[in-house]
Amino acid sequence: MIVFQAIKRFFRKGEFDCDDVANHSSAYLDNELKENKRSAFQAHLSKCGPCQAFVGTLSSTISALSRLPGVNAPSSLKRSLLDRMHRES
Ligand SMILES: [Zn+2]
Repeated sequence: MIVFQAIKRFFRKGEFDCDDVANHSSAYLDNELKENKRSAFQAHLSKCGPCQAFVGTLSSTISALSRLPGVNAPSSLKRSLLDRMHRES
């Protein structure tokens, strides 16, 4: 079984998993991802409903917060949003 996991991991190289999406979501929303990461990010989003919901919620949360002066969405908030969405799915 370990071998299969190693092979799976090998072929997944360069792809994003849910943790990667969580880690890169704010850079993605700020248009700060390099082209290859951006397409890996979008490739994961296209097949992962919870991450789509997460990025959508994060995006609207950030734009709501950014209308308030001096407020930044802390990364712990993003993290707990993602955890909640994966639990509910
Ligand atoms: Zn995901």
